[in-house]
Amino acid sequence: MAGTKVTVVIAQAQGRNPVKRQLEEDIATALMMEPGVDVSLVPHLYDMPQDHTGMLYLRSVPGNLVVLSWLYERAARWTLDRANIRGHVGLSLLKSADDEDTDEDEENVSDAEEENRGIGSVGVPDRRVYCIDLRISEDPQVFIREIRRIAEENSMQVVDLMSWIGGSPNQQQLQRYLQPERMLEARRALDSGAANHVDKAALPEDTSRRWYPVIDYSRCTNCMECIDFCLFGVYGVDQLDRILVEQQDNCKKGCPACSRVCPENAIIFPQHKTPAIAGALGEVGGLKIDLTQLFGGDSGESAVEMAVKERDAELILAGRDAVGMSIGIKQAHQTEIDDLIEQLDALEF
Ligand code: SF4
Ligand code: SF4
Repeated sequence: MAGTKVTVVIAQAQGRNPVKRQLEEDIATALMMEPGVDVSLVPHLYDMPQDHTGMLYLRSVPGNLVVLSWLYERAARWTLDRANIRGHVGLSLLKSADDEDTDEDEENVSDAEEENRGIGSVGVPDRRVYCIDLRISEDPQVFIREIRRIAEENSMQVVDLMSWIGGSPNQQQLQRYLQPERMLEARRALDSGAANHVDKAALPEDTSRRWYPVIDYSRCTNCMECIDFCLFGVYGVDQLDRILVEQQDNCKKGCPACSRVCPENAIIFPQHKTPAIAGALGEVGGLKIDLTQLFGGDSGESAVEMAVKERDAELILAGRDAVGMSIGIKQAHQTEIDDLIEQLDALEF
């Protein structure tokens, strides 16, 4: 049985933005003093490869988990799921700015319903994972108060995860994450250019920026449109014939084409500038609608037209022939989009 402590993991921002660094440090320093809380820092959640020690550490956390990252809550949750870091949805009172417009009924959806709209995740252990977007506030107290509330909420819970512990960092690797003060010190020395004082063993391995789709299985219905549409071999299926992102590094940097053709809006590109594609809830009147899908680009193109254009551009860049609408576009797709437009027209804003 695991204890009743909650583990808080701060996934750092890309780059060395001093304001973001300061917020991370202020939260970490304050939480080190909190009873009932263990705090660690890992590199940027989306950029860490599956075998990065930060991911191994996250996988080894045996109880309720709070992950603070510079991503939308939904993007963080499904990035973790992809790395086999799972749990029931822990509800945070802090919401990303672009997540706040959800319909009231939507907020009343139970955890179980929320996790059961699509094919769902597999092997979800009996614990909670809370994801919080660090862009919500510049005030560390906002996060510290919420973490205190979560720690309180979980103090009565006994979590059994003995069958779940899947990470295998060795003791030396673990030390980085179990001694956040040492990591913070090394990070400060690195940022100030005091090379002689950098304790390299306290720092996790570097990560580089990455670009790949993340699937939200609470929405995904396994329709396979994405695998038909993507001509770069990114998608595959597992032993249960469930869609998965198999060759993530085959994905073309900056291109979000398949997210536009997914009928369930289940494909997230966490670093895309459009909030609905980056994992904001992006819902209108309770309908799972991505407005960018309906209205396409500035020139009034439909989402499918935009996706086809983006895919053709990548094919040509790769020295292949453009295929236009001839491959991977379901006839029904345009009809579905027309139906959604009608539903949207019927809503009063
Ligand atoms: S297109 Fe969307 S709903 Fe269909 S399998 Fe792919 S991710 Fe799932
Ligand atoms: S963005 Fe393009 S390359 Fe990447 S998975 Fe989607 S369709 Fe394939």
